[in-house]
Amino acid sequence: MEDCLFCKIIRKELPANVVYEDDLIIAFDDINPKAPVHTLVIPKEHFSSLNDITEAQHALMGYILLKIQMIADKKGIAESGYRIVLNTASDAGQDVFHIHFHLLGGRRMTWPPG
Ligand code: AMP
Ligand code: ZN
Repeated sequence: MEDCLFCKIIRKELPANVVYEDDLIIAFDDINPKAPVHTLVIPKEHFSSLNDITEAQHALMGYILLKIQMIADKKGIAESGYRIVLNTASDAGQDVFHIHFHLLGGRRMTWPPG
């Protein structure tokens, strides 16, 4: 998508600290981290939010979770623990409308979330 911030990162038109990339997904560190580890994992195909995901993407969604498991291990937080956040639409505070999974770790998380 032409004006999408994360599509620009995918096309390398904007810089990012890329921690993993393949044909389907890219993972890069959040520019404003909310935890010692805060990585965003996104599909290269543009979907605005989880609300735009259909049965056609069910394998892609599972693939992303498996890769998050691998990235958590690479970041050294697999054993200590981590949280996956998928903000969807306004009540969740979604700011960037290219679906993205937040991988957060490296500190104790609180519950319930704010
Ligand atoms: P959300 O509020 O769930 O839409 O999350 C958007 C996230 O994208 C926020 O945590 C931002 O800090 C992050 N973000 C915005 N712009 C960039 C960027 N250029 N590079 C990396 N992360 C970004
Ligand atoms: Zn996009």
